[in-house]
Amino acid sequence: MDEGKWQSASFCKSLMACFTTCMILGCSCLFFAFPCAFLAVNVSIAFPIVAGILFILCFTTFLITSFMDPGILHRGKAMHDNLDPKIVKVNGILFHLKWCRACQFYRPPRCSHCRVCNVCIEDFDHHCKWVNNCVGRRNYRFFFLFVLFLTLYKLTLLGSCITYLVLNHHKSMSVEKSVTYPFCLNLGNTRGYSCNWPISTKEESFMN
Ligand SMILES: [Zn+2]
Ligand SMILES: [Zn+2]
Repeated sequence: MDEGKWQSASFCKSLMACFTTCMILGCSCLFFAFPCAFLAVNVSIAFPIVAGILFILCFTTFLITSFMDPGILHRGKAMHDNLDPKIVKVNGILFHLKWCRACQFYRPPRCSHCRVCNVCIEDFDHHCKWVNNCVGRRNYRFFFLFVLFLTLYKLTLLGSCITYLVLNHHKSMSVEKSVTYPFCLNLGNTRGYSCNWPISTKEESFMN
């Protein structure tokens, strides 16, 4: 890929991560400013405390997953391609190692080349476009925690919004209510990051 195409592809990839950041921050601002503020004053201070802790955990693990090295193997310096597969024995098991033309080395077992990032990744799971990074050996646990905290955060927001609407069902339409209704519709959608949880669905893996 030439330099110009690579730069425009990198820009597009960054847009997806920016979208995720804006969604998390934007939805959180609206939630804390409207339904959560009402619940904190009229029901319990536990609503903003629990939601605030989950927001911090969710956003922190998102940033770590996005910016952490997922397990990149540095390129070799071979002058020629070695197209013959190499066979190695590890703990009595035979592995056929394939030559990676882009990285110029034999890929170790459980290592795959990500075509989006154009690098080989140790224990490659998949490339997540929403965090704009590969999920591999080093950041897998943070990706797992991110999805877990995000799910808990979404459930907390959904429960809070439903509580708010039940308590205010007799009141006429207000700004708070008009913000909370779309929240319930959006948060009730169980897809989202769970659909980006392929663990072993290699069709999403951009592998060579
Ligand atoms: Zn490679
Ligand atoms: Zn990647």
